[in-house]
Amino acid sequence: MNFEDKKIKERFDILVVGAGLSGAVIAERFASQSNKKVLVLEKREHIGGNCYDFINENGILINKYGAHLFHTNYEDVWEYIQKFSEWERWDHRVFGSVEGKIINIPVNINTVNAICGTNIKDEKEMNSWLENVQVKYDKINNSEQVAKSRVGEILYQKIFRTYTFKQWNKYPEELDASVLSRIPIRNNFDDRYFDDRYQVLPKYGYTKFVENILAHPNITVITNTDYCNFKNRVDFKTLIFTGPIDSYFENSGLEKLEYRSIEFIEEHFKNMNYYQINSVINYPGSNVPFTRIVEYKHFLNQKVPHTTIVKEITKDTGEPYYPVPNVKNITLYEKYNELAKREKNAHFIGRLASYKYFNMDQAIKNSFEYYNSIKTE
Ligand code: UDP
Repeated sequence: MNFEDKKIKERFDILVVGAGLSGAVIAERFASQSNKKVLVLEKREHIGGNCYDFINENGILINKYGAHLFHTNYEDVWEYIQKFSEWERWDHRVFGSVEGKIINIPVNINTVNAICGTNIKDEKEMNSWLENVQVKYDKINNSEQVAKSRVGEILYQKIFRTYTFKQWNKYPEELDASVLSRIPIRNNFDDRYFDDRYQVLPKYGYTKFVENILAHPNITVITNTDYCNFKNRVDFKTLIFTGPIDSYFENSGLEKLEYRSIEFIEEHFKNMNYYQINSVINYPGSNVPFTRIVEYKHFLNQKVPHTTIVKEITKDTGEPYYPVPNVKNITLYEKYNELAKREKNAHFIGRLASYKYFNMDQAIKNSFEYYNSIKTE
């Protein structure tokens, strides 16, 4: 979308920086519930933030920035997303390739039997196996302790330690407990990745979904435009910033926050039905540099003659995807948050501005809550 001169002259009530999920939802709330005029500015050439997806050269709907699986227990979020897309049930499953075996992740009875050579048959036996291996702590202080308190030393080493190092360039003991708390543990044969009541994918993709959220007549969207170069050219009352909080305060003299980025290595195979047996296979070992391989045509059971796989290698440089929750960054973020609180007519929401490892439903929920807390300003 190109910016038209006449729009510069328009006065906006709200300027939202970032057309990802957080920005789109809060823009929509102000536009539809408060009848505000909202301008959404997006630095990238597309909307949708890291959910952005598109049809690739093989005719497969793929995510540009890694697989996105929608799951939620929030009834209000579930109701909300229905208004902007049709959704298809997708119970996401992840397999792991460990020492030549394909195992279930999260850990369930099958995982233990495959890795430890046991013959556990039911929940009772699994509970007593777990009871035996789980490490007891008075207080859980980091991600290593989370994992060991759930699955014990052996599975921790084989599934979590090296994968986490590849993902974060930090070992689990250096990371906040919240990182490995994301992965549940099962005492049965349930092999789904998430426990949530609603687990779905948007029938026509996330880009279409976000486009529909932004389609309100009170919303103007401009892509390819960096807020820093643009802020003095537009008249607005309230700013909602969804980019990295340290980039907003880059002149504050504070150290930069740490983010992890991902390099995506695509491979295309003509006239191949499937490359692998599941949409996602994790590689927790140190024998390969990537953390996982995603084969997108599995999602929504896409019927196309070819296939595309994407290997993910996590790294320090590049687009910021993951905030890195360790003591240093959490303390530093608090300093930025103090600056944010003092900033007049500006609010900071979303994964990058709140420096929180939000799932998509948490990002939407956060925008709802934020909208409710500031709508009368
Ligand atoms: N993790 C791991 N082994 C796995 C899968 C995940 O050690 O096979 C750890 C890793 O540190 C990861 C965290 O668990 O960052 C959370 O996993 P999740 O699947 O939620 O990560 P995301 O999909 O957001 O990258």
